[in-house]
Amino acid sequence: MPVRSGRPVARHDAGGDSLGVVGRLRAGGAAIPQGVFSKRLVPPQRASGRISPVCCEYEVIVLVVGFPAGVFATNCYVVAEADGRPCLVIDPGQDAAAAVAEIVTAHRLRPVGVVLTHGHLDHTWTVYPLCSGYDVPAYLHPADRYRLADPAATFPPDVLAALGLLGVRLQEPDDVRPLADDAELELAGLRLRVRHTPGHTEGSVVVQTVAGSTRLELGADRRQVEGPLMFSGDLLFAGSVGRTDLPGGDPEAMRASLARVATASDLPDETVVCPGHGPLTTLGHERATNPFLREALAAGVPAAWRGRR
Ligand SMILES: [Zn+2]
Ligand SMILES: [Zn+2]
Repeated sequence: MPVRSGRPVARHDAGGDSLGVVGRLRAGGAAIPQGVFSKRLVPPQRASGRISPVCCEYEVIVLVVGFPAGVFATNCYVVAEADGRPCLVIDPGQDAAAAVAEIVTAHRLRPVGVVLTHGHLDHTWTVYPLCSGYDVPAYLHPADRYRLADPAATFPPDVLAALGLLGVRLQEPDDVRPLADDAELELAGLRLRVRHTPGHTEGSVVVQTVAGSTRLELGADRRQVEGPLMFSGDLLFAGSVGRTDLPGGDPEAMRASLARVATASDLPDETVVCPGHGPLTTLGHERATNPFLREALAAGVPAAWRGRR
């Protein structure tokens, strides 16, 4: 873990130092402590109703299929209550539409919305074709709304140039609805809670499921997990955090956001963190080992933020 001046510094090693992302997906999800997911699974004789075709001994409440998309390797997640149900798409990155369509077909899903953890183009690249193709709204925190009008304009030109993407034009979706702090949403039959977690961008959020048993796939990493999930966008990664030196970034806000998430009483250690880049992890593992989260925890939640969940 790179350390500068005795303090943890976010690393940016996803195929180059300037992408604003951390880590590529590692097959096997090595960051997840083995054994964490063997707890409290529903035994076969108690499982009823929806049964996972993959893990037939477990009852499935949530289905999540994720994949890293495009040159940024941004994790896109498709989330549903089960096969054959409505679904949400979270952070559809570059060239994600075909893979989303494949997942939708394979699991007989029906997209009802696209949730964006923030407005960076590596997370929003495919929002327009998906929203227009399925005729569904996008959801984004209002503070990042301006980024959708011209996503490339809010991204560092040198990064785009290095990837041969300078001059890229992306279209904004017609129907964009606000994700408010502390909002509880019912989407695709799922109960979701939103926390505004600025720092990486002004309008970054994390979105969590309230609880449940989940069949979770991210690339080659396939697991049955218990407890809440947290889609952390570019706030929190396995062993690292999002960078704060891009336009709209704010290190102090980032520390406060990390402290708020790290101290949240409704996010137990077994919470599975589904990050915007890189492998899955658990919040307990990050609380114990992630130097950025530990530094934020030591600093505590700022007075102005106390009282928020
Ligand atoms: Zn990103
Ligand atoms: Zn980002």
